[in-house]
Amino acid sequence: MRVPLTVGDHLRRAAEVYAGKPAIVDEPGTPGSWGTVTYRQLDARARGMAIALDALGVGQGERVAMVSPNASRFQAAFFGVSGYGRILVPVNYRLNAEEIRYVVEHSRASVLLVDPESDEALAGVTAKHRIVLDGVADAELFAEATAQPREWAADEDATCSINYTSGTTARPKGVQLTHRNCWINAATFGWHVGVGDSDVFLHTLPMFHCNGWGMPYAVTAMGCKQVVVRKIVGEEILRRVDEHGVTLLCGAPAVVAAILDAATARAQRGEEIPGGGRVRIVVAGAPPPSKTIERVEGELGWELIQIYGLTETSPLLTINRAPAEWDALAAPERARRQSQAGVVALGVQIATAGDGEVLARSNHVFAGYWQQPEETARVLEGGWFHTGDEGHVGDGGYLVISDRKKDVIITGGENVSSVEVEDCLYQHPAVAEVAVIGVPDDKWGETVKALVVLRSGQDTSQAELIAFCRERMAHYKCPTSVEFPDALPRTATGKLQKFRLRAPYWEGRDRRVN
Ligand code: AMP
Repeated sequence: MRVPLTVGDHLRRAAEVYAGKPAIVDEPGTPGSWGTVTYRQLDARARGMAIALDALGVGQGERVAMVSPNASRFQAAFFGVSGYGRILVPVNYRLNAEEIRYVVEHSRASVLLVDPESDEALAGVTAKHRIVLDGVADAELFAEATAQPREWAADEDATCSINYTSGTTARPKGVQLTHRNCWINAATFGWHVGVGDSDVFLHTLPMFHCNGWGMPYAVTAMGCKQVVVRKIVGEEILRRVDEHGVTLLCGAPAVVAAILDAATARAQRGEEIPGGGRVRIVVAGAPPPSKTIERVEGELGWELIQIYGLTETSPLLTINRAPAEWDALAAPERARRQSQAGVVALGVQIATAGDGEVLARSNHVFAGYWQQPEETARVLEGGWFHTGDEGHVGDGGYLVISDRKKDVIITGGENVSSVEVEDCLYQHPAVAEVAVIGVPDDKWGETVKALVVLRSGQDTSQAELIAFCRERMAHYKCPTSVEFPDALPRTATGKLQKFRLRAPYWEGRDRRVN
């Protein structure tokens, strides 16, 4: 008889097989930190949460939104909410109150869970049940259960999470991932990265990000010891790698850069760099520069594995894990090959459309945008998911992402919709026309730049426009530079030619994404 693939399986199995083993070590010194809990306890706390949701009358398919940096209770919520038939909406805590209100209201979440550090800023954001995870409330919410929650009609095609992501529209879209999507993505991830019970996983990737790329499920299923990092500080990451014997972590290229900086500082102080020959670091979100890859392998002695994917694909599409025969190559050539997005993951099909757009099919392709059927139909046209990325499949089946068709900027691994930033700037009285583009940046990969045509007789400055945006949007979305051309290039029909605006900044590079 077939068994539905549901995400609750991962923790249920771990609680049976690895009952007394440390499951997760929380960040010490944060409000309501859990210290170390075992798999038996983690499972009991997730069940406790499901029982609490039963008691609140939260039905199957209802949304539970969570605004929190990484924490053990966030990991427990993946299972306490989604594992028992509700839908988790993990919200990007870096958004401002207005942006978070949009996500909570748009998803029509009946429960809102808020980290105490965000409570004050989010005072105006409410839901039917608003719970601040201050250590007291969550001790109740995640009380270790001895009983079982209400049964739910397990359905692998039901949505288990809605992850909001910035795309081509001014407002973020809610990506509905199903149990089957997440389950198969996690299994495929585990297969390719080789996750086993001796692994120690460091949660550096924000858990709100596309289910932490599926790692929260994969590492739980395999009974790995997990260690939480709340804020990205390179030296802190190195310290934990050392202290806990970490073997596996994930991060966008900007996180890798922070780790490399910290390692350089350690080397200058004559201190050791931990994890050499032991750590695998999985990098995605943007292409890691080949120099970064060379340094990770040369200076840290860590293995770098690149993946490519999107929130809409749960996210895994391609993987680049250097095969043994590349060991014989000179470091720069090996790094160049590693900087390609990779070969298809098991169960994934990739194609390129006539205009170079990368198309994908797999069991991880999402169930559609929440309440946006037209957008869903647009990206799934012809039975393929349209990634909005441009690329080609080259030697040995390696996919190379060369440009972005969609009007999205990726800075420090976070997506920024150019349209959203443009909409914000149009509210300023001195702005007649604006185009927002991504330009290369050493620290963040890309950074947001605004080109503004002023209204006649009006004046403003770069500093004023940046400050204007910072009052209205999450700071990572705001321009870091503004220029004031006399006009913007347009086609005869009036369409803005962004590629012409971008061209001078990307000259001499072999790809126009960073
Ligand atoms: P998100 O939905 O936030 O995961 O962002 C997905 C987007 O990130 C993709 O459409 C790509 O533009 C970009 N991306 C992710 N991984 C890579 C990679 N390895 N190389 C190039 N771009 C990437």
